[in-house]
Amino acid sequence: MNFKLVHVFLSLTLLVVFTSSSYANELSKEQINKVLKEAYNKYKGDMGGKNADYIKALDIVDPTIFGITFVDTHGNIYEYGDTKQVVSIQSISKVFTAALVMSEHGAKFVQEKIGVNATGAAFNSIIAIEQHGGSASNPFVNAGAIQSTSWVKAKDSKERWIKISANMSAYAGRNLTLNEPVYVSEVNDNKRNQAISKILDAYGRMGSDPLEATTVYTKQCSLNVSSKDLAVMGATLANHGKNPVTNTQVINAKYTPKIMAVMATAGLYDNAGDWLYDTGAPAKSGVGGGILAVIPGKYGIGIVSPPLDKYGNSVRAQLAAKYIIEKLNLNPFAQ
Ligand code: GLU
Repeated sequence: MNFKLVHVFLSLTLLVVFTSSSYANELSKEQINKVLKEAYNKYKGDMGGKNADYIKALDIVDPTIFGITFVDTHGNIYEYGDTKQVVSIQSISKVFTAALVMSEHGAKFVQEKIGVNATGAAFNSIIAIEQHGGSASNPFVNAGAIQSTSWVKAKDSKERWIKISANMSAYAGRNLTLNEPVYVSEVNDNKRNQAISKILDAYGRMGSDPLEATTVYTKQCSLNVSSKDLAVMGATLANHGKNPVTNTQVINAKYTPKIMAVMATAGLYDNAGDWLYDTGAPAKSGVGGGILAVIPGKYGIGIVSPPLDKYGNSVRAQLAAKYIIEKLNLNPFAQ
């Protein structure tokens, strides 16, 4: 008997067994494609909700856009519908700028200076700041997001913008570009956000000039993303901060659980509790019509469809995400 040959054979067998067992809990390509297609077909005709119109340029975005993308932590991409169509990222940008601030100042700083609790009020609430002792409560309401932007280390607002857009681009794995009409439309009409920044400044919570920070914040909200971009960004969070498509470590893995915890608490505006109850998934929505959901350790889901419900969450994106998470049994609390 050739012992060397037996040894090689046994080692190879063990390797195959080990590799397949470590992937044993993963879904097959067929399962994923089937469910994405079902979700798309089930909801493509649902025209419930209405585009945001408080930012005028959002009101004229094609409401029929509907794209669904699913990315796993190996970088495999599954897509259905209008997955190359872009919309402005809006509130979803808040996740990545808060993550950048966490990298620069630490997790405690975000918890103490901005907060990590739900407000129970609308995303642009001013009264919530007063009710919480001059605090924004969390980085995903406008107050906390403008604060995050102000704390990104930079010598001026130009450098701050370059860092913020480069950071989001690293999560998406491509150079995200500005939606100029959306930016111009909002920057000329963001008086409420300016007021929020001034109140926070009065409470000593801002890291840079409040109006400058509001302008940079408005610009970060105007970056264009597709459902594919959102899914890759989500998969980067799912993959402990390493973009699974570009293999770049975008953020230290110790911060991603913190970011996802805030997404679970306050990701879908003041309807975040209902969303978590239904899906168990950390997520973030934006008034441009995007939703990004994360299945920690496994998948990023990006869905784009502009019409919103009364809370500011995309109607079809929520329906499709809930369908996919349920059919593929992805609720993290059910694992
Ligand atoms: N740029 C928007 C605002 O500040 C973002 C809001 C959102 O998506 O929730 O009003």
